[in-house]
Amino acid sequence: MAKKVVRPIARSYQARFVEEASRHVRAGGHAVVWDTPLSARLVVRVPDGENPQDLGYWSMLDLGKTRYAVVRGGPLEGLAFVRVPADCREIVKRRVERDSVHRGPVHAVHFDCVTCAACCRDNNVVLGDDDLERFSEGGRPELGKLPYAKRAGDRMVLVLRRDRSCKHLSPERRCGVYPLRPDACRSFPVASECCLFAREKELGMVDGLEAAT
Ligand code: SF4
Ligand code: SF4
Repeated sequence: MAKKVVRPIARSYQARFVEEASRHVRAGGHAVVWDTPLSARLVVRVPDGENPQDLGYWSMLDLGKTRYAVVRGGPLEGLAFVRVPADCREIVKRRVERDSVHRGPVHAVHFDCVTCAACCRDNNVVLGDDDLERFSEGGRPELGKLPYAKRAGDRMVLVLRRDRSCKHLSPERRCGVYPLRPDACRSFPVASECCLFAREKELGMVDGLEAAT
């Protein structure tokens, strides 16, 4: 069943329009503020530490950033930001281009994970101790070993097929181990930049279905 999510819209601002950027972010959007043509900050509301699916946090995580700073003065005061790495400038430009068709700071979209499964391809699902325990308690301890899982450095990860789909993904795009699926799959945030990227890359869906209401 489709789930309606109100997601942030990414907009680009030159530094002199920082007050507009501030208004956009405080209203729920994400701003890319260009301090110079080669230096940008991604500005979002301070992530809700209690919410592991906070879309602002995942927006920064998608740029390889696990830590953010908080602006201490000026129009952006109190908002969170990360510097956009040089190799991610095209990524943030693409977000802005994608969202340029939408008005306002947020956009309501319906996502149907059951018919999607885009994030079950070309991923890197790391298994934790809780996952291995869940597999054992569920009577499927083999899920934590080859051919379903393999060691990658000091971590265990799910094995992908040659076509880069998860070994547990059925031809009907259903998870074959849904009740036992790893924590990383359970917590993958719908409507995050990672989700939107996966849908665009795997399914050619740029923004999901328009919300009816
Ligand atoms: S890519 Fe997004 S919509 Fe698709 S299954 Fe994953 S979380 Fe759900
Ligand atoms: S375990 Fe299931 S939910 Fe997780 S990636 Fe594989 S098919 Fe998708």
